[in-house]
Amino acid sequence: MATNTDVLIIGAGPAGMTAGLYAARAGAKVIVLEKETPGGQIVFSPKVDNYPALPHVSGSDFAENLQNQLEESGAELRYEEAQKIERREKSWKVWTDAEEYEASSVIIAAGTMHRRLGLAEEEELTGAGVSYCAVCDGPFYHGQDVAVVGGGDTALQDALFLSGICRTVTLIHRREEFRGEKVLQDQVREKKNIILKMNCVPEAFLSEDGTLTGLTIRRKTDGAQENLTVSAVFVAVGSDPQTEAFSALLGADGAAYLPAGEDGATHLPGLFVAGDCRVKGLRQLATAIGDGACAGMAAARYAEGQK
Ligand code: NAP
Repeated sequence: MATNTDVLIIGAGPAGMTAGLYAARAGAKVIVLEKETPGGQIVFSPKVDNYPALPHVSGSDFAENLQNQLEESGAELRYEEAQKIERREKSWKVWTDAEEYEASSVIIAAGTMHRRLGLAEEEELTGAGVSYCAVCDGPFYHGQDVAVVGGGDTALQDALFLSGICRTVTLIHRREEFRGEKVLQDQVREKKNIILKMNCVPEAFLSEDGTLTGLTIRRKTDGAQENLTVSAVFVAVGSDPQTEAFSALLGADGAAYLPAGEDGATHLPGLFVAGDCRVKGLRQLATAIGDGACAGMAAARYAEGQK
């Protein structure tokens, strides 16, 4: 038999947990589903400097506080993966790997997942020198030489974080200009132990006995190749929405950003989208929180109207 709830939220990142907090405080019965660890991508941010009024907050501290606040609000967090969603006459049916739910409204806050570089041996070397999380794995490379690939906020933040732990950090970016925030770019350029390799692309991981020993890069301007000797490569080349299971409902194919209004409402009654997986111009912690608040309130109001 299906478990009934007013609001079911898929994903316990900043948007999903904020949505849960707002919907629960509005009086709705709320269940938040999380397939991995609460917090989403922000737990990978060592230091968030642009979240208003909380300068220098660590992403994992932020996520932990939000989780505590969510649970204190009465919302229930369950560790399950939502796999299918279907419209019923006046509700939504959601199937997870463990259970079946019937909810008046559903908020998809499934977030995004880091991209891979797509080089040979990437999977085998993950955990043996290749990493997607500088906060988690950086301390293993204390005093060593490492590389970061990417030019967005994540790569710049990772390089700055690692520069405080590692001997050198080589930051490899495929263009002349970084994509990330100007203030982070300036901080990176000031660090003496961050070496910039602009207009360069990674070509191959180098390894010995199943452990990473370096990275071959190619300069795009003249094709010159260089072998970097590094103990770790931190990949920070962006992320893709985790929406395969839901995108068809909203007229999209595969992993796609989902269209929804500012209040998270989609064209389907009772179905909302919030956070980084929504079509929008700026994906930041602040905008994820804003999305969650709007969608949480709207979903709770919708559920109330169905009673
Ligand atoms: P991003 O902004 O999409 O940047 C990805 C970077 O990787 C770009 O510089 C891109 O190069 C490069 N890249 C992509 N594919 C590549 C490949 N195959 N090989 C080499 N380089 C490749 O991703 P992000 O830095 O993870 O940030 C994602 C979103 O989260 C952004 O909106 C960002 O602002 C946000 N964010 C927010 C916070 C915060 O709230 N404080 C913290 C971290 C991230 P090009 O520039 O040439 O495209």
